[in-house]
Amino acid sequence: MSGRRAGIDVGGTKCVAVVIDDDLRVVAEHRIATPHGTDALIDGLADLVERVGRCDSIGLGVPGLITRDGVIRASPNLSSAIDFPVGRRLSDRIGRFVHVENDATCAAIAEWRAGAATGARHAVVVTLGTGIGGGLVSEGRVVRGANGFAGEIGHMIVDPTGPRCPCGQHGCWERFASGTGLVFLAQRAGLFADRSDLRGEDVTTAAIGGDDAARVVLDEFGKWVALGLANLTNALDPEVIVIGGGLAASGDAVIESVRRWFAELLYSPGLRPHPRIDIARHGPLAGAIGAALLSEVANEPLSDGTGH
Ligand SMILES: [Zn+2]
Repeated sequence: MSGRRAGIDVGGTKCVAVVIDDDLRVVAEHRIATPHGTDALIDGLADLVERVGRCDSIGLGVPGLITRDGVIRASPNLSSAIDFPVGRRLSDRIGRFVHVENDATCAAIAEWRAGAATGARHAVVVTLGTGIGGGLVSEGRVVRGANGFAGEIGHMIVDPTGPRCPCGQHGCWERFASGTGLVFLAQRAGLFADRSDLRGEDVTTAAIGGDDAARVVLDEFGKWVALGLANLTNALDPEVIVIGGGLAASGDAVIESVRRWFAELLYSPGLRPHPRIDIARHGPLAGAIGAALLSEVANEPLSDGTGH
């Protein structure tokens, strides 16, 4: 499907709607603060759809575990939404079909259909933010899994003795390789001990500014990022890996280290072509743009209740 397509990215603090045209350009943008509670959320989303106006399809990107038929099983950023059928509720309200997908998967779809992974049949898209979001494309299709829960790559356990993750496990990949992870690595190395509001970007800035200790930490960070990417590559054999999020935007300092460590950690690195490691084209609107593209990548939904 093409035409004027609307996508809404539901975040923990704000909901962003975009409209894209046939050339995949963003031609309109609207936002609201994310309402508290599921009834208020549906009200807010219906209001956003109204503001968007005429469009040929509507997609919704939602954080958390989202089933293939648009039910939020649980969402760390929408704590009141447990087993909440957001797709059906919004659809009933506005009187038309709504595509629903995990927000990180939406961001990956934006890169795959109209970004750094355009044309790829096998791609891994990783968003390094406060946590790690991801989306996987294999054999030319978005990988959703039996329940729709595929792509939760931030919770791959890379060190069972590592720090506790809010998910309840220890040593998840995002404890080391996200913005939160970079802060953890810096503090563990004794850096910025006087800063309680330290962000990953502060460490990156110090490293780029020539701070040797920060550079060592940033290289360690690059190794943790590369470790997860090597594991994903061993499992999926992608032709391209796209890295997005705030840390990717900080430029070569991170990515150079990732590329170097990746080449060391990959299985049989000398016997295979290595995937291209590229920076995401889309910034903070990636999730909304990908949501707008859901109508054209929608696989057949689970309609027989399998997996529920
Ligand atoms: Zn976790």
